[in-house]
Amino acid sequence: MSTDFDHIVIGAGISGLGAAHFSARRGLSTLVLEASDRVGGCINSQVFPALGGFWTEAGGHTCFNSYGHMLSILDDLGLTSQVHPKVKVGYKLWKAGKRRSILSALHLFEGARSIPKLFKEPKDGRSVRDYYGAVLGRRNYRDLLQHAFQAVICQPADDYPAEALFRRKPRRKEVIKAFTFAEGIATIPNAIAAQNTLDVRTGQRIEQVESEGEGFRVRLQDGTAIRAAHLTLAVPPDVAAKLLPAGFEDARALVAGIGMAEIETLVLVLRQDDLELPPIAGLIAVEDAFYSAVSRDFLPDAQYRGFAFHFRPGVLDADAQVRRACESLSIAPERIAAQARVHNRLPALRKGHFALVERLDAALAGKRLALTGNWFLGVSMEDALTRSHSEHVRLFGDRA
Ligand SMILES: Cc1cc2nc3c(=O)[nH]c(=O)nc-3n(C[C@H](O)[C@H](O)[C@H](O)COP(=O)(O)OP(=O)(O)OC[C@H]3O[C@@H](n4cnc5c(N)ncnc54)[C@H](O)[C@@H]3O)c2cc1C
Repeated sequence: MSTDFDHIVIGAGISGLGAAHFSARRGLSTLVLEASDRVGGCINSQVFPALGGFWTEAGGHTCFNSYGHMLSILDDLGLTSQVHPKVKVGYKLWKAGKRRSILSALHLFEGARSIPKLFKEPKDGRSVRDYYGAVLGRRNYRDLLQHAFQAVICQPADDYPAEALFRRKPRRKEVIKAFTFAEGIATIPNAIAAQNTLDVRTGQRIEQVESEGEGFRVRLQDGTAIRAAHLTLAVPPDVAAKLLPAGFEDARALVAGIGMAEIETLVLVLRQDDLELPPIAGLIAVEDAFYSAVSRDFLPDAQYRGFAFHFRPGVLDADAQVRRACESLSIAPERIAAQARVHNRLPALRKGHFALVERLDAALAGKRLALTGNWFLGVSMEDALTRSHSEHVRLFGDRA
């Protein structure tokens, strides 16, 4: 079969860009097709040109020195030396209309009594509520951990698989433990996409993929059909289920069972002088309309402060969200310097997820189609890249 590319990747979030980077580094001609007008997906450093280019994160905000695949890509791009440390600031709870310390919700005695269980209790196959309730105490789970986990995954945490949160990975000690970049995390997807070994086309919402022999045909928005010997779908599971071509019925049925959580993100920028609130990492909300707010105080700016509020979908209208966010920061809505709205989506994994992934992998074995995303191992950027890398090895073999 004559093809236009060795490899087409659909979706230019970190999973798709990682998959494309790995194949382009091996000299394979690689095309990335992205629906939106920018790359990065959930990595979205919102820039405000009218405010001198001030930016704040509307999605992923922190990378760690345990992100091995991410760091290997940064090494390839010459970016590892440019990582920026984050100023240490702490989270606060937002509960019943007040900001409170994290310690105020901690049951110390119960926590201390439970700690030995941390090393004994198995995580496999258990929900977050089950596992963390057992290892740190039911009251600690109810009053603190549940809300902290919800804040991380921007959705109810009780039924989420415990294994999908906080996987231990080796650290690269010479790299700063928690880092960002001077222009935000979007530096990473932008730098991957800017490589001249990659063809990245934005504004291409792909609606259909067809099998053609052992390869694939993808129809672009203008009707042009492009052929490739290998295909990677790096889109959320509902989109992947729609795009999986004929011959992948078993995989499609499994992927269709994975849900998504919708998140209404409100980004606010405020002038330093207007805010009395001391620097904070963010707010963890307890039974409120938002799950969490993440600040940009980890990289202070002389003039502005930025916050991304992650709201539950359909609870408050746009004005009420602004009022609630301002109330939690003790500032009047009239003082807002700029704002933006972003629709974030994250997978809503459930108990039994890892058994489903095993069946999915069995359905994909021997095929030239890869599936990747933040809905395999876990939601972190590194979990996403770990999946992209193992799918790369399955499709193209191990370089070593
Ligand atoms: C608020 C928030 C905070 C987070 N904080 C952190 C953090 O601090 N650290 C961390 O490690 N992780 C964090 N994460 C998680 C991490 O950022 C994401 O899980 C990861 O970036 C997801 O990457 P992805 O490529 O798998 O998916 P996505 O980023 O969702 O990318 C999928 C891409 O596919 C595109 N697409 C969809 N449909 C089509 C189509 N039909 N045709 C073409 N393209 C299509 C989308 O436009 C999108 O660009 C956070 C996530 C959120 C939402």
